[in-house]
Amino acid sequence: MSMPILMTVDDDPSVSRAVARDLRRRYGTDYRVVRADSGADALDALREIKLRGDAVAAILADYRMPNMNGIAFLEQAMDLFPHARRALLTAYADTDAAIQAINVVDVDHYLLKPWDPPEEKLYPVVDALVETWHAVGDRPIEETKLIGHRWSRPSYEVRQFLARNSVPYRWYSVDEPEASRLLDAAGATQEEIPVVITPDGKALRAPTGPEIAAAVGLSTEPTAEFYDLVVIGGGPAGLGAALYGASEGLRTVLVEKKATGGQAGQSSRIENYLGFPDGVSGAQLTGRARRQALKFGAEVLTARDVVGLTVRGSARVITFGDGSEIATHAVVLATGVSYRSLQAEGIERLTGRGVYYGSASTEAQSCSGEDVYIVGGANSAGQAAVFFSRYARTVNLLVRGPALERSMSYYLIEQLRAIDNVRVRVCTTVEAVEGEEHLERVTLRDASTGATETLPTNHLFVFIGAAPRTEWLGDSIFRDSHGFVCTGPDLLREGHRPQGWPLDRDPLYLESSVPGVFVAGDVRSQSVKRVASAVGEGAMAVALVHRYLEER
Ligand SMILES: Cc1cc2nc3c(=O)[nH]c(=O)nc-3n(C[C@H](O)[C@H](O)[C@H](O)COP(=O)(O)OP(=O)(O)OC[C@H]3O[C@@H](n4cnc5c(N)ncnc54)[C@H](O)[C@@H]3O)c2cc1C
Repeated sequence: MSMPILMTVDDDPSVSRAVARDLRRRYGTDYRVVRADSGADALDALREIKLRGDAVAAILADYRMPNMNGIAFLEQAMDLFPHARRALLTAYADTDAAIQAINVVDVDHYLLKPWDPPEEKLYPVVDALVETWHAVGDRPIEETKLIGHRWSRPSYEVRQFLARNSVPYRWYSVDEPEASRLLDAAGATQEEIPVVITPDGKALRAPTGPEIAAAVGLSTEPTAEFYDLVVIGGGPAGLGAALYGASEGLRTVLVEKKATGGQAGQSSRIENYLGFPDGVSGAQLTGRARRQALKFGAEVLTARDVVGLTVRGSARVITFGDGSEIATHAVVLATGVSYRSLQAEGIERLTGRGVYYGSASTEAQSCSGEDVYIVGGANSAGQAAVFFSRYARTVNLLVRGPALERSMSYYLIEQLRAIDNVRVRVCTTVEAVEGEEHLERVTLRDASTGATETLPTNHLFVFIGAAPRTEWLGDSIFRDSHGFVCTGPDLLREGHRPQGWPLDRDPLYLESSVPGVFVAGDVRSQSVKRVASAVGEGAMAVALVHRYLEER
């Protein structure tokens, strides 16, 4: 934790040095002493301190400074650090200055120079200043800071990005006074939000995922041009493949477009994963897997989107969204699935502003005491209902079918039944969502009677069927009619190998129609959509990669 700051400002460098020396002697072990020779320099230093998230306990400013006197300086300093205690230094008693100092900047003390001996004249004053500051002052905030608007989609996306990548951050709504102070210190305006301020004080205006990733220390650039294995997708399947690949000596890089963890990372509680009888949060499980993969030497790139996969001789070439490339001997494709869009009037406009896909755990606090609606009848929707029931007044689970039993595990149905504030509405669809700046109302249709009902709410979470996003793969990698990638025996048609298959053997079990490109997890046609099977397939794909490499 960094030390709070004592600042001294005096245009006479010898006086400024003397004050700083006396302050260090007495307070140096608990406070950092910062000195400046003018009001302007001191304000620059204070802006930097603000962005870094350090705390200022007290400011001692000389009154008679050219360009900006001590009172004008303290007035501006207060805009940045309203809780810092303030003392004005003067060479001789000046009643007008004293009155002005009290009226304008509410100074705590008025100190006459010279203050020798400091034990008698300076330290008692500074002791009183720091004591008052300790009682009411702010504390250093060393995490990343995010200033945004509660109902802005870009702000929501940055929150999600930071949360899902386990980057600790503090959120400031743009209408809070501290948000204005931070924006001022960064020289940014409200139009430029979301603004991210990194722990070392760098301000990023409306940043992209890769910009944030690079600034907060997540790897975004590969260290090599050629790998043994490239894993595309950082969900359980991809993490499994990267972990086993790296631990078995393959030079491995995993490329993830958003945050490692994939769908599992969004699960509030996975109850059915082997070895966790009390359940485990998806973020915990996948966070550990990521650490484990890194420990074995896998590279993990975050916020990098793969948009192309081509064959160049024996190499497989991966193209990133920015056009750059890496090559590899083998690939494990583990891109999973994403939620389908909910078809209801007004959805697109309000997404990220009250309508959210997935569990959006960052929104949990803001659901306190409110009525929340969740769309979906599968386990993911059930888990979200359990999670939000701890915060919301009521949780209303909207299920299209006539019963939950068809789509949700028995243990979850039982859990939901035991929670008082969860209501399940079957045969119900969302017809429309409305709101000016953010979601305010939702219109539901009862499929059995055709009746519609419009209800007030600020929160609608969507957990409906998921689809693979595999269009970018091109024609050489065969997919089924829903876009899932076909592998192994599913590629054989009446005993014939897929068109263009170049090898004198059948595709291996998890191998796609391109030799050396293996597929694991939810994106694979006919796969079981579970964490355990995704992890298992990731591990198995690596065993098949070894077989493929041996035959080359
Ligand atoms: C809320 C929720 C709760 C769930 N609960 C359970 C449970 O309790 N038990 C259970 O067994 N299963 C559960 N599941 C299902 C389980 O999470 C999935 O089956 C599992 O995550 C699939 O893993 P995967 O690695 O195949 O794909 P995903 O988890 O979908 O991960 C794929 C990753 O690939 C990335 N990606 C996609 N395209 C690209 C690209 N072009 N370039 C780079 N990266 C890309 C994505 O961003 C994503 O991170 C749940 C799912 C959800 C959504």
